[in-house]
Amino acid sequence: MSNSISVLVIGAGPAGMMAAGIAADAGGNAVLLERNPRVGRKLLITGKGRCNLTNACEIPELIAHIPSNGRFLYSAFHRFSSQDTICFFEEHGVPTKIERGNRVFPQSDKAVDVVDAMHRFVKKSGCKLLHGRAKSLIIEGNSIKGVVTEEGKKIFADSVIIACGGVSYPGTGSTGDGYE
Ligand SMILES: Cc1cc2nc3c(=O)[nH]c(=O)nc-3n(C[C@H](O)[C@H](O)[C@H](O)COP(=O)(O)OP(=O)(O)OC[C@H]3O[C@@H](n4cnc5c(N)ncnc54)[C@H](O)[C@@H]3O)c2cc1C
Repeated sequence: MSNSISVLVIGAGPAGMMAAGIAADAGGNAVLLERNPRVGRKLLITGKGRCNLTNACEIPELIAHIPSNGRFLYSAFHRFSSQDTICFFEEHGVPTKIERGNRVFPQSDKAVDVVDAMHRFVKKSGCKLLHGRAKSLIIEGNSIKGVVTEEGKKIFADSVIIACGGVSYPGTGSTGDGYE
């Protein structure tokens, strides 16, 4: 059996943890690369530390509240709806509650419980977590073959998922590397 990495995910925010966990659950040899010593730092401060993890409403209503081009998200929400999000967290040990405006929070009011649940999901999936900052991509022809870290280490993979987040609150590690 080959030890080669099938999916390398850059960034252990909610997007990266979900992508890496799902890939490993599906049988892939998945690796998650995070620059911070701990995962989900931005997630920790969401919803004023309570994490408004989704909205308990139907897909058309969700789409209607997205400021621009919400229709782009139809297929994603059809594959994984807000109800799926609630079930995911309930199954991973985070009971939820619904507040005014259908906003869904962990019953504990602690975003850290959401981060810990995602971290457990990643670990249980068998995905390997590496610490380091992806500096550049290894590109051959038209294909991305892996990444080079800040320390110059090369990590090769069949597929690379960039989940480095945006640029708000750069102190959390999301400094816009993905855009570059
Ligand atoms: C104050 C605040 C409150 C919010 N509240 C809510 C809320 O209540 N509900 C809600 O749904 N959303 C909320 N959001 C938005 C939410 O935080 C983001 O939508 C979400 O974190 C995006 O997830 P992500 O995985 O795409 O990126 P991020 O959470 O930004 O994660 C990206 C990860 O990639 C890592 N990374 C970046 N560059 C590299 C690199 N070169 N190499 C390796 N790792 C790298 C980062 O360290 C980070 O861990 C809030 C945002 C803020 C700032």
